[in-house]
Amino acid sequence: EDLSIQDNAIRGTNEDAITSKLSAVNAGYIQDEYVKYFHKRPVKRSPLINRGSYVRNKGLDTLIIKFLEIEDGRKQIISLGAGFDTRYFNLKSSLRKFYKYFEIDFPEITAKKVAIIRKNKTLSEIIGDDARIGRGDTEIYGSDYCLLSGDLRDFIEDLIPRLESNGFDRSLSTLFLSECVMIYMDPTNSNKIVEWIGANLNMAMFIVYEQILPNDAFGSVMLQNLKYRNIELRGIHAYPDLESQKDRYLSRGWTHAEAVDMNEIYDLYIDPKEHARISRLEMLDELEEWRLLASHYCIAWSYKISNESQIALYDS
Ligand code: SAM
Repeated sequence: EDLSIQDNAIRGTNEDAITSKLSAVNAGYIQDEYVKYFHKRPVKRSPLINRGSYVRNKGLDTLIIKFLEIEDGRKQIISLGAGFDTRYFNLKSSLRKFYKYFEIDFPEITAKKVAIIRKNKTLSEIIGDDARIGRGDTEIYGSDYCLLSGDLRDFIEDLIPRLESNGFDRSLSTLFLSECVMIYMDPTNSNKIVEWIGANLNMAMFIVYEQILPNDAFGSVMLQNLKYRNIELRGIHAYPDLESQKDRYLSRGWTHAEAVDMNEIYDLYIDPKEHARISRLEMLDELEEWRLLASHYCIAWSYKISNESQIALYDS
């Protein structure tokens, strides 16, 4: 197996992510005025995919905001494999308070992100004019934003020291995000990250969004389609369902873990008014297909915090 071919294919998934996000924004599902800067061509994805992007985004945003609100004190966010994610810009323009937002991705991806931000006045102004660019134009060091280039397989040896020299503080509450990222990594490597945080931080949260259920008919097709593109979901057999997704943390020093699939988020969490609004945006005849798709994606989150508060998606 040629690792560099696979790494290239994995980097290519950033393009899918931003394309789908822009499609959901243009169709009215999601509000995000920054996505358009990262993808110029107008794109249209199926109503099914748009609805999926909406539920994914809604679930993740809700948990991230809960993390920012749950306790006092300075908060850090570290986005693993951030790609062209625009969350920093959205949080900042909605006046959310955080101490520092870090993003990590391969240099091939961060170089493009730097180039886009550099050319764009709106984005640069949000980061602030005191920001510096470095490491061969692949990194940005701002006062509350830091973009680092590196390989998550070298998280402990390479990235932790560089995060720390750029302001990452182990004693502060820290949220780690992996939105369709750790699933591409060998579990030995992703588990090292989960373990390190569990052992070295007292106040942390981990949020993962990724595929599950590889073994049914839909799951096999999903894996097969990726295989044609040289992409393997290396983590999916280690964490194939909601139970194992929770256990990934509980067996590694974390005290609370939750996992739900997209159907549960759609049914139990999203407001009936929002159901009505998005149903009006586009016709969705294939309800069975939506259910099937939604059952194959989950959000799992785990946390260790100083008091006994719970971080739940909804109050049951
Ligand atoms: N999190 C973003 C989002 O949801 O919009 C991007 C998701 S994209 C599907 C996966 C990203 O993870 C890509 O940008 C890829 O380059 C990055 N990635 C995967 N493995 C990585 C690794 N070992 N080191 C650094 N980045 C990695």
